[in-house]
Amino acid sequence: MIIQMKQNATKKQYEKVTGYLKEKQFEIRDVSSAHVMVFGIIGDTSRIDPHDLYAFDGVGEVTRVSTPFKKASRSFKREDTIIKLPGGVEIGSDMFVMMAGPCSVESEEQLLTIAKGVKAAGAHLLRGGAYKPRTSPYSFQGLEEEGLKILRRVGDQTGLSVVTEIPAADLLPVFERYVDVIQVGARNMQNFHLLKALGKSTKPILLKRGLSATIEEWLMAAEYIMAGGNEQVILCERGIRTYEKYTRNTLDISAVLAVRELSHLPVIIDPSHAAGRWQMIEKLSMASLAVGAHGLIVEVHHDPEHAMSDGAQSLKIPKFKSMMTSLGQMADVLGLRMK
Ligand code: PEP
Ligand code: MN
Repeated sequence: MIIQMKQNATKKQYEKVTGYLKEKQFEIRDVSSAHVMVFGIIGDTSRIDPHDLYAFDGVGEVTRVSTPFKKASRSFKREDTIIKLPGGVEIGSDMFVMMAGPCSVESEEQLLTIAKGVKAAGAHLLRGGAYKPRTSPYSFQGLEEEGLKILRRVGDQTGLSVVTEIPAADLLPVFERYVDVIQVGARNMQNFHLLKALGKSTKPILLKRGLSATIEEWLMAAEYIMAGGNEQVILCERGIRTYEKYTRNTLDISAVLAVRELSHLPVIIDPSHAAGRWQMIEKLSMASLAVGAHGLIVEVHHDPEHAMSDGAQSLKIPKFKSMMTSLGQMADVLGLRMK
């Protein structure tokens, strides 16, 4: 971190801020010129927020030269993190992993129909929300614990690992019991109490990017989980809020490239919540594969017109099957595998 004092800053102001940092066990490297006082601080700067230093009179400009995340950083760990699931599924390797299923678990019959369909098409994981974060309190809220039990039974019956969203930290024991991968929804990306609790979990965490989160904030959320001891984090870009209204969100496809440079963690894309329209899903999925995502999480429903949530963005099972064929052909060309 480099701190440049204001042009008119006094020696006393310089000494106050450097004294404070020395007390915090940082080493100060002075690089002042005749015109301006400048110094670098050496040590674990992830412990301080650069903005806090503006509280000191005379501080002009604070510049971070290293990232505020450590465990999530590519400079901390060079090799890609690979998360292994039963059945030889690897997230973060040369395998392009497909997670598919309905937005919400509606009944055992519904989930089984969809699970059988996506499994036959080659999906690796079954998704389905049991606790639904709905914009309106009057919309369907999910089957809750019963939904988790259905997911487990259907997952076991079809041989698919299951991924579902956790709404709050106190539900962690019940999620640990029924779920293979725990999803943190976009709205909870900065629920630090929840992230800390998940840091103690033994399950991999699928961390969605917040609705308006920067890439750095997203990686800092991953850092919270990792700092607690759980290093199995899968990042998921699901579109961010912009001024554009045509799509539900704006898919930030370049975030995959940024994250793969900044971090060793696997990153997947959710084209369903990004686009909000099923007609766009196949092409966005192909773009995700091309850009280097490690997989997809896609909403699929056997009867989208009557789905209890997100029908407009859900693929019908035959459409999902044909998309899997296109993705398989593309993966072959790119030297990636889907099995
Ligand atoms: C979901 O996966 O159904 C969901 C609600 O996603 P997000 O948190 O990305 O909105
Ligand atoms: Mn949904």
